[in-house]
Amino acid sequence: MKEKLFLIKYAEIGTKGKNRYRFEDILCKRIRSRLKPLGTFNVWREYGRIYVAAESDFDYEEAISRMSHIFGISGICPVRVVEEPTPEKLEEAAVQYFAEEYSDRHFSFKVHVRRRDKEFPVHTMDMEARLGSVLIDHYEQDGLTVDVHTPDVMVEVEIRNRAYLYSRIIPGPGGLPVGTNGRAVSLLSGGIDSPVATWMIAKRGVEMQAVYFNSPPYTSERALEKVQDLGRIVSYYSGPIKLHVVNFTELQLAIYDNCPHDELTIIMKRFMFRIAEEIAKREEAECIVTGESIGQVSSQTLFSLGVIDAAVQCPVYRPCIGMDKQEIVDLSEKIGTYETSIRPYEDCCTIFVAKHPVTKPTLAQIEGSEKKLEGIIEPILEKALEEKTVTWLR
Ligand code: ATP
Ligand code: MG
Repeated sequence: MKEKLFLIKYAEIGTKGKNRYRFEDILCKRIRSRLKPLGTFNVWREYGRIYVAAESDFDYEEAISRMSHIFGISGICPVRVVEEPTPEKLEEAAVQYFAEEYSDRHFSFKVHVRRRDKEFPVHTMDMEARLGSVLIDHYEQDGLTVDVHTPDVMVEVEIRNRAYLYSRIIPGPGGLPVGTNGRAVSLLSGGIDSPVATWMIAKRGVEMQAVYFNSPPYTSERALEKVQDLGRIVSYYSGPIKLHVVNFTELQLAIYDNCPHDELTIIMKRFMFRIAEEIAKREEAECIVTGESIGQVSSQTLFSLGVIDAAVQCPVYRPCIGMDKQEIVDLSEKIGTYETSIRPYEDCCTIFVAKHPVTKPTLAQIEGSEKKLEGIIEPILEKALEEKTVTWLR
């Protein structure tokens, strides 16, 4: 039987004290908007829990899949509802629930009853014992056993004017509901690292926007599509992502023509950061996010990262900073971006790249080189910002 009621478990929201209602309300909102295309759903909070009830036909698998990708949710429990519960009706429901829910009954269990309806004629512990023994009576021959200390399956029964029965928990991604921790602009390339970084910051409840720098005709339409696809995968967890696409070609050519080639990557990055910071200001975002990790390439030595940071005033967050490449790859496989990230399209940074890039730049040296761009670069920067395009990824 496909249940129509779901209990939503959340982890960290519970520790937010007085702020908790705000977090719960935002999570309810997220759930509503993700489920809306699938049917009519009622989402509400009650006694520090969130419930979702389907009030029309709906695609069960898709609804579960969507909910299990919403940040802030740690688990989803499909709930069997028993109307006008009596002790006998509950016994019958428990037996039937086990028959339908578990084809292999070779496990241990424990029943945990909560009684909010004090009129209910049987006390909590007696009801637990009754449900435990009726299940054993029916399924002991299948291998079912009771274990009150470390059961494989915990059967939860909550008795109110209706009774709720559940035992399965479908895991969610954890984290905090998006929209509870401000906004960030992520530098999203078509690589492996930046989608992971975007996902990690979104997981902490931050609303993400993304900026992608393309360099037509050196980078193709396919490269842009790849970035859009990556953003869409992340949006499955985070909700819609506003993507800013900035044409970087003229800027790169100006840098290429005027600056030492071994400093190209650093100087380009500094301009990417400046543009991202400007977008962050306009969009009222608090910070920028990148997929950099210490030592991965020459532009990611501590010296290079420091010089790149110095181009902007806003905070720069790099959640992959201490991760090995393999760890980033593992996470990208887990969240589902890996297969898209390895599609072979060119990136603007790999086209204008020096044979021997600097690994120990100093700020004075780089600022010296950038002086050569004075009077040339300003109108190009302005134009790039003016002509940027915006799409929503969802
Ligand atoms: P990724 O796998 O995320 O592409 P990477 O290992 O290729 O990273 P770099 O090319 O040095 O490393 O880029 C470092 C970071 O700079 C990226 O993680 C991303 O945040 C940002 N970045 C690089 N290229 C672009 C681009 N074309 N548009 C937007 N951001 C970019
Ligand atoms: Mg890259």
